[in-house]
Amino acid sequence: MTTFSPEPREILVIDDNDLCGRTLCAMLQRDQSVRATHARSSEEALAHVDTHRVDVILCDLQMPGTDGVETLRLLAERNISCPIVLVSGTDPGVLASAAQMGASRGLNMIGTLHKPFRPAELHDCLIETGPLTRPRARKIGTRIAAPELERAIENNELLLHFQPQLDLTNRRLEGVEALVRWQHPDRGLIFPDAFIPTAEDSGLIEPMTDWVVQQAIEQAAIWRKEDLCPGVSINISARSLHRLDIPDRVEEAARAYLLEPERVTLEVTESGVSDDIGAMLDIVTRLRLKGFALSIDDFGTGFSSLAQLRRLPFTELKLDRSFVRGAASDVDSLSVLESSINLAKKLRLKTVAEGIESRAEWDLLVALGVDLGQGYHMARPMPASQLAEWHALWSTPASPVGDAPRLINQG
Ligand code: C2E
Ligand code: CA
Ligand code: CA
Repeated sequence: MTTFSPEPREILVIDDNDLCGRTLCAMLQRDQSVRATHARSSEEALAHVDTHRVDVILCDLQMPGTDGVETLRLLAERNISCPIVLVSGTDPGVLASAAQMGASRGLNMIGTLHKPFRPAELHDCLIETGPLTRPRARKIGTRIAAPELERAIENNELLLHFQPQLDLTNRRLEGVEALVRWQHPDRGLIFPDAFIPTAEDSGLIEPMTDWVVQQAIEQAAIWRKEDLCPGVSINISARSLHRLDIPDRVEEAARAYLLEPERVTLEVTESGVSDDIGAMLDIVTRLRLKGFALSIDDFGTGFSSLAQLRRLPFTELKLDRSFVRGAASDVDSLSVLESSINLAKKLRLKTVAEGIESRAEWDLLVALGVDLGQGYHMARPMPASQLAEWHALWSTPASPVGDAPRLINQG
């Protein structure tokens, strides 16, 4: 988890238009954790980055004098690594190709904003870029009450973000994990840790799971048709594993959207495995019979017994990010990781590493023989509308194999 830092997030807005620049700064500074600086020209911006810390850059494309494309080139020459968002009223195709150019020069292009845009689009674009906005969104003083969550479900305030899962040896996009968020009208984007416990305790997890399954499969079927992404992973709460109708719900959705069952993976956390083994066996066996893949999530944290694991028909083991995080520097985490991978291989399970945040972690996981990976190093969870753009940037030939994220996106 990211930790809260009291330092403001420094955002540099580069826009020759005084009104646009100032409006954008004001919009950004509604978030009290942000300090926004307006540069009216490329020269002013470069002088600023040479002398100040900058956490995120929002850059206009059309500027008299040095334009946005030239500015990106000059930023690349300075090895600027902070996330960059391109903002412009120009044709979206031009915006996309400018972003691709920036990525090919090694800049961390995280997205584009087409003017005019709504504050919510700006917020979406930035939400998962840094440590500050996210804990604020998570830090909801009081526990969310069930009626409020119920209203949110009825009012369609839930949404899904998707995080790419890649083949670590060839960088290919193999799937996405669907992660639920709540776009609260006043509180902004709320992350699942803040509302899933209420959903589980109140029984609302049932309609929520049905909604997630339906939405994730519908979206995955679209990407499958577009040849963009082969599969989707969906989280099923351990508390839902008494619901004997789950396999039927998932099957109905897959049939409705004509998505082959083997393209859908259901992720179940390891800690859920031990509770009611009878109902769980019924559900997971029927899911497998219907052809769906089954993943054991957060592996290494739940102390499940090997005997239990062997009895359950999992197809995939997901290595918890706490071990991935520690493995490059800490021998204990490395040995948990190695023995989990060996176990998975013996049980003929696919391995997926989550929480890859650096090139060093990627390299280590490849050396250990892990099949797939996901993490901020490659992409943050993002709205469905951004996957194609991320993929185009990710596939830019100039980006060296396994190297840094070309587009890290928003939640
Ligand atoms: P999870 O299943 O372990 O999901 C992965 C979490 O790790 C996500 O957090 C993701 O944003 C975060 N993550 C991905 N890459 C990195 C990285 O490189 N570094 C770090 N530090 N974190 C990374 P998120 O979206 O906040 O989800 C939290 C948990 O909420 C999930 O953990 C999952 O257990 C639960 N959840 C999310 N969506 C659903 C859902 O639709 N249904 C249910 N039942 N649970 C869900
Ligand atoms: Ca998961
Ligand atoms: Ca996990």
